[in-house]
Amino acid sequence: MSNVDMKSSTALEWHEEPRNNSSIHEMPEGSPEAPIISRRDLHSRHPKFWFDDGGIVIRVEHIIFRLHASTLRSKSEFFNDLFAQREGVDMEKVDGCPLFDLDGKSRDFTALLDALYGDLTILVGSVPSFFTLACLLRASHHWKFPGLRAWALDALHKRWPPSLRSVDEQKDLDIHALKLIVLLRECGEKSLLKRAFYRLLRLKNLGMTFEPDITVGKRATVVTPPAEDGYSHEPIRWLPTDSKLGHNDTLRAIMLQAHAVDAWMAFVCKPPSYSFLSDLHQGKKVNCQQALSTAWSKRVTEAQNMRWLDPLGCWLAVAGILLKIEGLCDNCIVKCYEHLRNDRKSFWDGLDKILEI
Ligand SMILES: [Zn+2]
Repeated sequence: MSNVDMKSSTALEWHEEPRNNSSIHEMPEGSPEAPIISRRDLHSRHPKFWFDDGGIVIRVEHIIFRLHASTLRSKSEFFNDLFAQREGVDMEKVDGCPLFDLDGKSRDFTALLDALYGDLTILVGSVPSFFTLACLLRASHHWKFPGLRAWALDALHKRWPPSLRSVDEQKDLDIHALKLIVLLRECGEKSLLKRAFYRLLRLKNLGMTFEPDITVGKRATVVTPPAEDGYSHEPIRWLPTDSKLGHNDTLRAIMLQAHAVDAWMAFVCKPPSYSFLSDLHQGKKVNCQQALSTAWSKRVTEAQNMRWLDPLGCWLAVAGILLKIEGLCDNCIVKCYEHLRNDRKSFWDGLDKILEI
């Protein structure tokens, strides 16, 4: 995203007063010179973020915001530099305030303003929706608000805690996994990437669908299913591009799927042969290795209801199966648990390399 497009030829073309005194939006339709957007559209004031005592006007997409330079400047290096560069420059004005054009999406900018001026960071009894957190993270990253970027990431970490134990519990991440990956890539953040990729394994076709024409889809909006809840700074508007993985991430998802199947197959194809299973068990005549081997093929290798693409969940399922194996002593069950836990953690840690995180 380029920073400011104030002096771009397109921006100037819109701002210049027509020489024949006709307004821009009166140009004949179909004329190659006619702008797509009318002047009125370019000056739609935001109903909430328009402060009469504000000294600057910022335009994002077709919406203008009247704000306080000091508020933006104090929290953002980007705005600090921007206002410093424009001091003394003759600029187009709206209501006597200099007008700044920003590239980006108004949904992101309004999330930023809601955090600065509104309710977002002082919510009580409610949590931000993923849509709002995504908009705030994107905005705070692009327009360099480090404090709000950290706040948005912290809220995402609270929503999807990073511990391995919680991976199986984060089912609400399924519908957001693709969007979260795209968002994190856009913002140069890796902390939640692995769990987002892992959730794709649970989804049909890794959560991906055919997009007939993504360029057409840029203008369309997708209404988020009712599962999305919490506080949203404006009506939820996801774009198809928000869920569009890049080529390399698509490849990583496929590689992860293959790795998960391989890891699980290697584990289930034969029963573990830990040395403690064949110990003399303090002189008692039991053979836990035999008991485990007998039960393993039917209950684990040939199990019909194992989700092979979810090895973390399968390891938990095997832990439950161990409890029901006749002839396996309590001591061996405890030790097998430890091995399963270590295997599970090794698998999880090893995904960093697969995903190049
Ligand atoms: Zn035993």
